[in-house]
Amino acid sequence: MGKKTVGRFEKIDLPDLGLLNLDAKIDTGADSSSIHCTSIEVDEATKMVSFNLLDDTHPDYNERNIRMPIKRMKWVKSSNGQKDYRVYIRTKIKILDEVYEIELSLADRSRMSYPMLIGRKFLHNRFLVDVSKIGTKHGKGVKLAILSRGPDLYSTKRLYEAAKERGWDVEVINYVKCHTTIENENLNIFYNDRALTEIDAIIPRIGASYTFFGAAIVRQFELMDVFSANSSLALTRARDKLRSHQILAKHGVGMPKTVFATKVEDVSTIIDQVGGAPLIIKMLEGTQGVGVVLSETRKAAQSVLEAFYGMKVNLLVQEFIAEAKGADLRVFVIDGKVVAAIKRQGLESDFRSNIHRGGVAQKIKLTKEERELAIKAAKVMGLGIAGVDMLQSDRGPLIMEVNASPGLEGIEKATGIDIAGKIMDYIAKQLQKTKRKTDQVGV
Ligand code: ADP
Ligand code: MG
Repeated sequence: MGKKTVGRFEKIDLPDLGLLNLDAKIDTGADSSSIHCTSIEVDEATKMVSFNLLDDTHPDYNERNIRMPIKRMKWVKSSNGQKDYRVYIRTKIKILDEVYEIELSLADRSRMSYPMLIGRKFLHNRFLVDVSKIGTKHGKGVKLAILSRGPDLYSTKRLYEAAKERGWDVEVINYVKCHTTIENENLNIFYNDRALTEIDAIIPRIGASYTFFGAAIVRQFELMDVFSANSSLALTRARDKLRSHQILAKHGVGMPKTVFATKVEDVSTIIDQVGGAPLIIKMLEGTQGVGVVLSETRKAAQSVLEAFYGMKVNLLVQEFIAEAKGADLRVFVIDGKVVAAIKRQGLESDFRSNIHRGGVAQKIKLTKEERELAIKAAKVMGLGIAGVDMLQSDRGPLIMEVNASPGLEGIEKATGIDIAGKIMDYIAKQLQKTKRKTDQVGV
């Protein structure tokens, strides 16, 4: 008989402890299994342990005292560095309609979201684990939150659908309406008035004007051990054009020659350093082509730069890659692999190829050099999901920018590739891998 597959959560019974229909979380990141209880008291002489079980299935009382033999004890270092011991018991467990014996450590897991955790030792050689599978009838699948201000945007809708297709529990959350509470060892996120708990993963789709706040919300989720498709750190890096350029340059990723300066006296030198006019001027926090200026002549460049510097706008001055002919490549990288690539051609009158500015996209096969460059750019930026933009220059591909919330519409429509689905596969894989610190406390 083939092995049965358990999902991320399963409903189980512990008949000898009188617990039925308990939510257990499957955690391949933990070695042993554990159950939440309080008032653990060890009687060394009789090798018995007594403890209280929280049992909310009984209406009259919700704490029940149990006394049973100790299977073994183990010394461990607790989080505050003190030595402590952990007590293990052995009992019957009914899971997926079969009864087994399980060793459980008794742990005060009152701050954890699940009263019971099933670790590797029990699962090994007995079950296959598929975290993307919905558990049994009552169990739950992956709980995913898409952080987005636009539930009706193409990308948001596609991500939502792809999660639903997998039977996941998915919700679009307007992160601007979230607030966090921060106190000693206790982090929470509220959406309007509701506490967001038991979320397994988030996909941040943070708008450019909310980078600071959005990244803070993502960071709070990370601190609560929720997996984020892109980390808050990588997100803030990607949003800052100068910072991205510094990181990419440091790792030898090819880019157009770029200068950053703030002093007006430098204007002439700056222009020389990027090889004279025509040149490109970019405001540091623009997106979708707004804030990118082509200065055709030295004179124009000089006055534009002086004007911007006079207004204390932060900018990059960049060599103009004329041979790109108003086109660029958008390469979608997930988990270190290229999943789709398009070439975007701007309107005849525009040097910018942004689709939001009327550019058209077409599926393209990348050269090996282009593919490797895109993968490297995503990697050094630390992005699990990245939209890497590059220009085809006479000296090979050059990176322009790396987007942390790349849009799906243009690229899915042009290539017919189910990118939203690939993002879900990536999340499922990461969830399986992630050792979730929270669950290891007291386990
Ligand atoms: P945004 O973040 O606003 O999209 P980009 O840096 O991607 O800004 O620039 C917008 C568009 O302008 C690019 O897609 C590309 O077509 C064009 N462009 C940007 N930099 C250069 C350059 N150095 N040489 C030629 N074209 C460029
Ligand atoms: Mg761009």
